[in-house]
Amino acid sequence: MATSPTIYPLQPENPTGPYYPCPNPNKYFEVRTSNIHQRGVFTLKTIPEGIKLIEYIGEKISRTEALQREAINNTTGLTYLFDLNENTFIDGAVGGNESAYINHACTPNCVPRTLEGKIWIVSAREIKPNEELTYDYQFPSDDVVQDICRCGTKYCRGTIQLPK
Ligand SMILES: [Zn+2]
Repeated sequence: MATSPTIYPLQPENPTGPYYPCPNPNKYFEVRTSNIHQRGVFTLKTIPEGIKLIEYIGEKISRTEALQREAINNTTGLTYLFDLNENTFIDGAVGGNESAYINHACTPNCVPRTLEGKIWIVSAREIKPNEELTYDYQFPSDDVVQDICRCGTKYCRGTIQLPK
């Protein structure tokens, strides 16, 4: 049996940064087919820790609307909803960018950070070329539908939801 997972084994030491902008995102990562789930985002060159790789953008919707869309998403297995705060969600499926394709991993190499009201996907360690970018989705443990995790990382907890 694996030991109890550390939820943020690779979190940057300083949660508020400073973080640094990615000089040219097109040269640092691209969308490709993923072994984890459908499409993913892969690095093209080495990325140091603490780089603001991409902003998670999309349509801003209410919690009520998000729950309705989530019910539909549960039938397709595709979800691009990100909770900005308790009442506001971002739907990356509407007006989103490559960030919507970043897959979940239980032992990720990126971490989402809310910086000045925007969500940034930040590198949590040095990431080598051709690694898939991932962050921990931290879906709530009480979700009715539990999503099986196929991240294959050392501390995989088996579901994308947090442990109960
Ligand atoms: Zn996993």
